[in-house]
Amino acid sequence: MAPETPSGTAPTGRPCAICGKPAVQRFKPFCSARCADIDLGRWLKGGYVIPGEPVEDMAEPVPKRRDEEE
Ligand SMILES: [Zn+2]
Repeated sequence: MAPETPSGTAPTGRPCAICGKPAVQRFKPFCSARCADIDLGRWLKGGYVIPGEPVEDMAEPVPKRRDEEE
């Protein structure tokens, strides 16, 4: 890979989180306000899956009671 440049032409060194273009300092970690907006929109719509959030969506069967009515 290319060696790191101290004060480089590379904006931030990290690709835009949305489109993969080189991000710029002003909008980092995005390349533009548009991409930042897209990301924000995704958050607001809940499009992101938050890692670590326990999903307890399994329908656990209720254990059968063993009291026999007689
Ligand atoms: Zn972008």
